[in-house]
Amino acid sequence: MLHSRHILCRLTTSAVRPHCFASTLVLAEQIDGGKIAPVTLNTLTAASQLKQDVDCVIFGAEKTNETAAQLQKYNNFNIKKIFIAENAAYKGLLSEAVTPVLLDLQKKNNYTHILGGSSTFSKGILPRLAALLDVQSISDITKVIDKDQYLRLIYAGNAILKLKSNDQVKVITVRGTAFEAAKEGGGSGQAQVEKLDASPTNDLSEFVSREVQQSERPELPAARIIFAGGRALKSKENFKLLYDLADLFPGQATVGASRAAVDAGYCANDLQIGQTGKIVAPDLYVAIGISGAIQHIAGMKDSKVIVAINKDGDAPIFAMADYGLTGDLFKILPELTEKLKQK
Ligand code: FAD
Repeated sequence: MLHSRHILCRLTTSAVRPHCFASTLVLAEQIDGGKIAPVTLNTLTAASQLKQDVDCVIFGAEKTNETAAQLQKYNNFNIKKIFIAENAAYKGLLSEAVTPVLLDLQKKNNYTHILGGSSTFSKGILPRLAALLDVQSISDITKVIDKDQYLRLIYAGNAILKLKSNDQVKVITVRGTAFEAAKEGGGSGQAQVEKLDASPTNDLSEFVSREVQQSERPELPAARIIFAGGRALKSKENFKLLYDLADLFPGQATVGASRAAVDAGYCANDLQIGQTGKIVAPDLYVAIGISGAIQHIAGMKDSKVIVAINKDGDAPIFAMADYGLTGDLFKILPELTEKLKQK
């Protein structure tokens, strides 16, 4: 009897999977122009560490076919199926519109793990899904230990929590900077693309508009170099010193800020790095006039090389910097910019 049940599990390959078949669903994020969000590639790596079949689902108002075609290139990640749900109602990817379809997909396929990147998109949807499934929402994991156990940071990154979940379905957001981005190719076969009957009903919310900052510079989480400024910059105008530096590395560098600089109105709040801002891990992080409060460190401590510029030699940021420069930023930055221009 046990044997026949086992065979039933292995033979069932249709959309409806029996419960004993462990499998993962990745909530893939579509960004402007139908591209896959970089954090989805980090999430694929986390999903692959669960060592089970992976399906992906893409929601969008348009171009979901194109997004799926991009995902198909990651054929070394055991992706079996890519579901696409396209409907004008997914403009803005509102949680109220997306979650019921996701819930339906989970019920049909009995996924044991549902993963999304730690982005505004997944963080809006997955806790809602967890509540509807009546399971714990597991947020911001930094490591997969096994199918039930994960690591995540707590107390602004000062302690690591080992979390064990006994829920039948694990609903997880993945901290992108903690996992390498998936690389294309290397596998055989191609994931099958399947259209979902996407007729969402959502009377709860409506997408009105989105304001996007147009910039030639990369987004903070994708930047290889970040020049971050703190309260010491003293004004919005002085932030230009940082932009001048960043623009010497076109396509690679951008500007970030401490919360004190954001609160003082020196820059937009989407530049904030830290516990309540963005989490980044660039190749090079230059902290300029930033003291190094734990809440700031929580957002940048995984940077590969950290440089601190501060006039106070005892500033806490020096304790974690690979290179430190003690001095006045208003003298150092113009000199540095000139020297780099000569190079
Ligand atoms: P300051 O602490 O005022 O440091 C300024 C530094 O500039 C000093 O070290 C000073 O020596 C140096 N300096 C001054 N003049 C010059 C000069 N001319 N040249 C060179 N150096 C100079 N903060 C974040 O950044 N991100 C977060 O996400 C965040 N979340 C928070 C969440 C909570 C719940 C709380 C309570 C706080 C949070 N904070 C966060 C705030 C955090 O505690 C600090 O207040 C903030 O990071 C300080 O910013 P700062 O380093 O720019 O300013």
